[in-house]
Amino acid sequence: MKIAIIGGGITGLTTALALHKLGIKSTVYEQVATLNEIGAGIWLQPNAIKILNWLGIKNKILEKGVQLQKVNIVHPNLKPIKKLKNELIQDEYGNQTIAIHRARLQQVLFDEFSQYGQIELGKKYISQSTENNKIQINFSAQQIEADMVLGADGIHSQVRQYLFPDSEIRKTNQICWRGISKFKLPESLMYSGRESWGHKRRFGFSHLPDDEVYWFAVKTMNGHREKTDIKYIQSLFKDFSPVVAEIIEHAGFIHTAELTDLKRLKTWHRDNTCLLGDAAHATTPNMGQGACQGIEDAYYISNLLVQNNLSQETFKIFERKRRAKVDYIVNTSWRFGQAAHSPIIQPIMKLMMKATPEKILTSQMNKVYQVEGF
Ligand SMILES: Cc1cc2nc3c(=O)[nH]c(=O)nc-3n(C[C@H](O)[C@H](O)[C@H](O)COP(=O)(O)OP(=O)(O)OC[C@H]3O[C@@H](n4cnc5c(N)ncnc54)[C@H](O)[C@@H]3O)c2cc1C
Repeated sequence: MKIAIIGGGITGLTTALALHKLGIKSTVYEQVATLNEIGAGIWLQPNAIKILNWLGIKNKILEKGVQLQKVNIVHPNLKPIKKLKNELIQDEYGNQTIAIHRARLQQVLFDEFSQYGQIELGKKYISQSTENNKIQINFSAQQIEADMVLGADGIHSQVRQYLFPDSEIRKTNQICWRGISKFKLPESLMYSGRESWGHKRRFGFSHLPDDEVYWFAVKTMNGHREKTDIKYIQSLFKDFSPVVAEIIEHAGFIHTAELTDLKRLKTWHRDNTCLLGDAAHATTPNMGQGACQGIEDAYYISNLLVQNNLSQETFKIFERKRRAKVDYIVNTSWRFGQAAHSPIIQPIMKLMMKATPEKILTSQMNKVYQVEGF
């Protein structure tokens, strides 16, 4: 059985590693010719950490990242909206959120899988066709045969384009700048993540090793093309804590993109091809769960493929298992992001956050952190 994984991002590489752990061979095909250091940061929450631990790579990730003691929604002056006794970033078993540079996470996954399996770089998937149950995959400069395709090629997935050409990307009308700054945060701001909410604006950040800071800035769009220069972004956050301007001042490369997600697909699979991660269910980043859900997909699809003798039937079972949680995250994240930028709803949300008993918040988060078998 030849399994082709399209896309060597977080979902594709984790899927390959999970299959390998269960004794199944796969090959990853990634469009870029070399992995690069460009990228911002990412927060990996307990549901993802459990799976990375199961794969035996949690410590390698921890070596390159920082374990966060808390993640708070805060006012523009960085004062917490709600003070919590038990922080919500760890699950009941003590698995804690890790902040890491995205490129370093991808490198850990890449290096790990390279020891056991095959990753072909510079392979851009274009299309596929099926004849006599064999799939012909067309890359930009080559053709290969496979028995099963797992499409993990991100929100703009070409595999999805082949399966479901009518799929739609939803735009939030919120622009996001993100980057890594060479800057030592004051001790009091290290080891916790913060997202500060101002008027139609948010700014989030957390410390990374080697005196780096991962940050993101979000603003409601005005219809015109947004600038990417440091002075402009600083000017948008001038009424926030002065540390925000300092973080932006030291930024390296800044990514600029509108926040988007994927309109719910009717199904994630057809014949012997199944979509995973952002290709199937890209979410807005407001719950910090996009990559975590891709990692969960990797865990479930690999285990289910083994339990069901690598049959196509597995894709239906996989989708049944994953749908409710993924739908909850995509929908809640969308609503959360829209509410955070509404001048009317944001103050109500802040009051609700204050009023909601910590027990309820903890039980909501524990549901998100649950993964079967752990
Ligand atoms: C601002 C922002 C902040 C975020 N923060 C968090 C966070 O804190 N925590 C979290 O869990 N998630 C977060 N996310 C979401 C997270 O980034 C994504 O969910 C995650 O990267 C999805 O991984 P993936 O592997 O499915 O897709 P991708 O990361 O998009 O990877 C797809 C891979 O496929 C390759 N590819 C694409 N097309 C082809 C092709 N035709 N042929 C071959 N290869 C191809 C790409 O080069 C890439 O390597 C955030 C997202 C944004 C936008």
